[in-house]
Amino acid sequence: MRKIAFGYSNRCNISCGHCVAADPGLQREKMDLDVARSIIRQAKSAEVGGISFTAGEPFIYFDDMLALIGLCSALGIYSRVVTNCSWADNDDKTLEYVELLRRCGLGQLRLSCSRWHQQQVDIENVARAAGACRRAGVACYVSFVTDFTRADDHIEEYLMAKKLVYFPEPLIYSGRAAAFEKRALFTDYQHNRCSMNAYVAPDLAVYACCDGGTDFKATNVFRLGSLHTDGLGEMLEKSESNPLFCCIRTQGISVIASYAGFRAREIVGYRKCDLCRELFDDRLRLRLLYSKVRELQNWTR
Ligand code: SF4
Ligand code: SF4
Repeated sequence: MRKIAFGYSNRCNISCGHCVAADPGLQREKMDLDVARSIIRQAKSAEVGGISFTAGEPFIYFDDMLALIGLCSALGIYSRVVTNCSWADNDDKTLEYVELLRRCGLGQLRLSCSRWHQQQVDIENVARAAGACRRAGVACYVSFVTDFTRADDHIEEYLMAKKLVYFPEPLIYSGRAAAFEKRALFTDYQHNRCSMNAYVAPDLAVYACCDGGTDFKATNVFRLGSLHTDGLGEMLEKSESNPLFCCIRTQGISVIASYAGFRAREIVGYRKCDLCRELFDDRLRLRLLYSKVRELQNWTR
């Protein structure tokens, strides 16, 4: 099933210290509501089955979100919203919001939680939003963004104590977090495959990857085009048929790094997106990989 991430706006009402969407050079943008509707219709024609509304805080445009979720629902597209829960500051209002979302046909609410978010949003808001979802029958889970240090223990202990369903999300060292000091890693040899769901940005640029890969400044390798000039279906096909992207999906970043001559002991010291940047945000290496992609595709055990 085709799935896309949808950045209706990259504006936010808080300012987290780790925010990927807060690259200093990034303009604060919001799509026109009718344009967003037409993109969702295009997505339906392109057989997209799931849309995740993300980027900044989607609910600062709550009524627009209700309209877009309602449209997804009418078209049979599964919808998900990623939110910082700042709106969930009292019981009645939270339940009212969640009920409205349920009536529009929202598939899932994903509640962001981290030591950076919680410097500005009371962690009780996360539990309140989860509780309202439980009462209203809306699927939800907590996305626990962490750098896997003890500094996050109090957050995880809270989530456990409240019996909230949560999944750890590795911090991405991009945007504001690009300046963070990285602890040395030593992982098992993971394939680091990546499903690469496309991302529609508020300025209508479309990328093959929705995380750190939108700011590979040297090569811009994951930029597929712009909805100002290209069709969504055409760009999704471009991503799906790109031989190098197919290798990322099927063989994984570690295998590509090994093929590119990285030592095994170096590979296990990288985070996935950092290794991806090392490989694909270098013009010379990228050209070399494209020129040898047939050989790479057959480079299996
Ligand atoms: S809530 Fe999300 S978009 Fe807003 S500043 Fe925090 S990480 Fe960035
Ligand atoms: S590994 Fe690469 S393609 Fe996958 S999310 Fe990270 S930057 Fe994007």
